Amino acid sequence: MSETLVEFDDVLTRYEPVIGLETHVELGTESKMFCGCATTFGAEPNTQTCPVCLGLPGSLPVANAAAVESTIRIGLALGCRIAPWSRFARKNYFYPDIPKGFQTSQYDEPLCVDGHLDVEVDGETYRVEIERVHLEEDTGKNLHVGGATGRIHGADHSLVDFNRAGIPLVEIVTRPVPGAGAKAPEVARAYVTELREIIQTLGASDVRMEQGSLRCDVNTSLAPVGATEWGTRTETKNVNSLRSVERSVRYEMRRQAAVLDAGGRVVQETRHFHEDTGSTSSGRSKEEATDYRYFPEPDLVPLAPDAEWIEKLAAALPELPAARRVRLRGEWGLSATEMAWLVNAGALGLVEETVAAGATPADARKWWLGELARRANDAGVELSALAVTPRQVAELTALVAEGTVNDQLARQALDGVLAGEGDPRAVVGSRGLAVMGESDELGAAVDAAIAGAPDVVAKVRGGKVQALGALVGAVMKTTRGKADAATVRRMLEERVLGS
Ligand SMILES: [Zn+2]
Repeated sequence: MSETLVEFDDVLTRYEPVIGLETHVELGTESKMFCGCATTFGAEPNTQTCPVCLGLPGSLPVANAAAVESTIRIGLALGCRIAPWSRFARKNYFYPDIPKGFQTSQYDEPLCVDGHLDVEVDGETYRVEIERVHLEEDTGKNLHVGGATGRIHGADHSLVDFNRAGIPLVEIVTRPVPGAGAKAPEVARAYVTELREIIQTLGASDVRMEQGSLRCDVNTSLAPVGATEWGTRTETKNVNSLRSVERSVRYEMRRQAAVLDAGGRVVQETRHFHEDTGSTSSGRSKEEATDYRYFPEPDLVPLAPDAEWIEKLAAALPELPAARRVRLRGEWGLSATEMAWLVNAGALGLVEETVAAGATPADARKWWLGELARRANDAGVELSALAVTPRQVAELTALVAEGTVNDQLARQALDGVLAGEGDPRAVVGSRGLAVMGESDELGAAVDAAIAGAPDVVAKVRGGKVQALGALVGAVMKTTRGKADAATVRRMLEERVLGS
């Protein structure tokens, strides 16, 4: 099924996009939200369950203090106000992966409200306002067996794994973000990227999108340029990578524009994103809002964190990513553009660690953005996935700085490191990569070059000193790049010109 799409640039001539994001983050607590069950990812199905998270009659939940603390820290990092009093509520609906028949969540009294996150795209800052950060529990997982797609359609039977049921889940909801125009897809991506980095810095979750510990629902709507009311939004569910966040907004903008151009109206619905085609397809219609019959959870006491504790948590927050970037930019003397390159290449942390291991910022950047970026690109992997550590890169730069190897030999040493032959210094030893000093061996190579090119020698002696370059090249070739070019030049000058 292929939809009619409008060219992206055309969309912007007639419509203004508004985006909004709901992000679910599984907290990395040892135990579940309301019981003591373990939360290990990938355990045998239904081995991490108990009467509380299975919703058996008579069981009573107790809130996980570590999860409450993590949520408050996330709220503080996003500039939220922490509610002095908040409550859990029951969100009632039936689904096989909800053993209790309701999800314990927060409704009109969330733990954190009114924050914001500033993100930068192409040198412009966009403020994303955070409406709320609340705490709830994850659902179990349905497994549809026997079909070709893993979806329920065509499956023989379905299984339910309750290991995930009751894992603490933080939901971070933005307000609608207007005004991003053509940058809306990138702003959406930048927001999730920054949010993910903040939560990682806080140590609150492993934020692995591919394992589902960070999941995104992306809202997109279009309104005619100059309209005073926003358009009807669609909600694209469970978008599983940063790239997909951007693509899903882009696709919805193009699709909705085609619907509106044809005089149709956008249906308020949830949509599914397809990684392979970059498209979305219709899911459940939301035209009739589901009534979840929320009511306050009678089995849990309200959350009333005291002000002193919140102050303590605020004071103990680590340096957040934005502040860290500003600090490092200053320390390394980089322009905003240079810093953006580093961040976009995913090299910031790697360069920081390489500098900490003794490299100069300039050398560390040169390696990670040059040779190593090229190799990661060739291999189709992230920089951080290369089989070389920041400490080893620092060692390479030290070997160059002390003159043991030149750049070309250092690249050969890197080959060895990536091939698992050990640290750079060891590889230089085992592969015999050290630069040749002014040895007999080098002298012999220089003499051979002179003897092999009498015409060049005559030119040099006749005043064409630049012709010496050909002799340097010949020596570098016979020594397979192991000689130091400046040394070779000096030795040639001595022998040819007698100086
Ligand atoms: Zn349990």
